[in-house]
Amino acid sequence: SDNACNEHIVMLPMMAQGHLIPFLGLAKQINQTSGIEVTIVSTPLNINYLNSTISKDSTQSSSSAKINLVALHFKSEEHGLPPNCENTEAIPLHQIALIFHASAFLEVPFRSFLQDLIAKDGKAPLCIVSDVFMGWANEVAKCFGTINVTFSTGGAYGTAAYASIWQHLPHRLTDKDEFNVPGFPDSCYFHISQLHKFIRDADGTDIWSRFFQPQIANSLKSFGFLVNTVEEIEPLGLDILRKYVNMPVWCIGPLLPSTMLLDQSGSTIIGQRTGRVPGVSPEKCIQWLDNHSGCSVLYISFGSQNTVSPSQMMALAMGLEESGQPFIWVIRPPFGYDLRGEFKPEWLPEGFEKRVAEKKQGLLVHRWAPQLEILCHKSTGAFLTHCGWNSVMESLSQGVPLIGWPLAAEQGYNSKMLVENMEVCIVLAKGVQSNLDKEDVKRVISIVMDKGGKGGEMKKNAVKIGELIRSSMKNDVGGKKGSSLQAMDDFVSTLLSLKNREA
Ligand code: UDP
Repeated sequence: SDNACNEHIVMLPMMAQGHLIPFLGLAKQINQTSGIEVTIVSTPLNINYLNSTISKDSTQSSSSAKINLVALHFKSEEHGLPPNCENTEAIPLHQIALIFHASAFLEVPFRSFLQDLIAKDGKAPLCIVSDVFMGWANEVAKCFGTINVTFSTGGAYGTAAYASIWQHLPHRLTDKDEFNVPGFPDSCYFHISQLHKFIRDADGTDIWSRFFQPQIANSLKSFGFLVNTVEEIEPLGLDILRKYVNMPVWCIGPLLPSTMLLDQSGSTIIGQRTGRVPGVSPEKCIQWLDNHSGCSVLYISFGSQNTVSPSQMMALAMGLEESGQPFIWVIRPPFGYDLRGEFKPEWLPEGFEKRVAEKKQGLLVHRWAPQLEILCHKSTGAFLTHCGWNSVMESLSQGVPLIGWPLAAEQGYNSKMLVENMEVCIVLAKGVQSNLDKEDVKRVISIVMDKGGKGGEMKKNAVKIGELIRSSMKNDVGGKKGSSLQAMDDFVSTLLSLKNREA
C-alpha cells in the first residue's frame, strides 16, 4: 500500500553466514510484498559480502531496488580480534566466542546510525528487525521510539529448544542422561548427545553463558518473532515456541529464491545467491548430476563453518567408496586445522579422489558448492547434512530426505525434530568427538537410498513437506493465500496499525 511505501525497516543480523543469507532473503521478501524500504546494517566486511551477493544474484536482481546496505564502524583489532575478523567464519574455532561478544560493540555506531536516519526520514523506522543474538537492539528500539521484532533464522522447534536450554542452566548430565526441557511436553526427552559441547559445561558464569543468556532474555522482550519456517510443517515446534515466547510469531519461510519454489526437482536454476565462488562451477555440477539416474546421488555438506574430525573424515570416505553410491561431497580441512588452508590428500584414503572420479562415483567440491542447484536436481536423492536450518529448509523444499550429523548450535535439536516429528531423517553421527565406523556409513546410506522400506517412507514424507513449503509461498492455494505470504501481510499490517494508533 501507499502507506507502506513511506515506511522504513532496519535490520541487524548476526555476523555469520547462516544469518546474513536469510536476513537478506527476509529484506527482499518484505520489500517485494509491501514496498517498505529496508536497510540492513552490519560491519564493513559483512556489508561488502552482502553487496557482492546482491550484485551476483541473477535470480532476484530486480527486487533489490529498495534494499540498502549500510556499514557501521567496526574494527576487529579494537575489540581484541584478529585483523579483518568480522564474521564467525573468519575466526579460528578456539576464539569464536570473541566475535559473539564483539557483536555488542555495534550498539554505539548503531545508535548514531539511527539518529542520522531519523533526522533524514523525519520519523523513526517502522521497526527494527534484529537477530536473536542481538538482543540489545530491543532497548535501543525503545530509546528511539520504535519497536523491535526478533528474527530467528532457525526453525520453531530448534529456536524454542535453544532458548529454553540456555535459559535453564546448568545441565550437569552424564553420558547416559536424558532430560526434559522446560516448555516442551513431559513425554519429550532430550539426550545429552544432542547438546553442543559449549552448553554441556555452561553454568551462567562461563564465556558462552555470559553471551547467550542476556541476548536471548532481551530478545524475549521484543514485540514479536519472525521465524524462517512454514506454519504447516512444524505444528509441535510452533505450539511450543508460541507458548514460550508469549508474543506474536509469524512464520514467513522459506527464504529461498522464488525460482526454487516454482516446481519440484528437475528445474535447473543457475543463480549465484551466496556471493562466493564455488569450488566447481554450477554448470559442471549439473552436468555431473545429469549423468546419474534419478534420486541416486547423495549430497554431503556441513554448512558454511563446520567440519568433522580427521578420523571421521577418513571413515566417511571409506564408507562412501565401499557403498558404491554416487555422491557429491563438499570437502574442507578437518577439525583442528585451518578451514581456509590447503586441503591435504593424506586426510583421505590414498588415491581416493582420483579413484572415485574415474569410477564416476564421486565429485569432491573443495570448500563451497552451489548447494541450491544440487538440491534442485532430480538426480539428488538424499542430503548428509549438519542440520543447519537453512540447509534443512533448502533440502525439504525439494523433497530431499536427510541423513543427520549435527555439529553445533541448535543442530542437535533440529535433527531430533526431523527424526521424531517429520520422519524425514536418520542420524548417522553427532559432533566431532564420536567415533564413526565405515560400516555405519554404509548401513545408513543403504537405508536412506533404498526406494522401498524406511527410505521410501522418508522420501514420501519429505515430498509431502516439500509441497507444503512451496504452497506456503503461492498466491492462490485453493482460493487462499499461502500461509507464509499471509503471515508476511499480517506482520506488515500489524506494524502499520500500531503506528496508526500512535499517530
Ligand atoms: N552453502 C552453500 N554451499 C556450501 C555450503 C553452504 O551454498 O558449500 C549455503 C547453504 O545453501 C545454506 C548456507 O550456506 O544456505 C548454510 O546455512 P546453514 O543454516 O545450513 O548452516 P550454517 O552455515 O549456518 O552452519
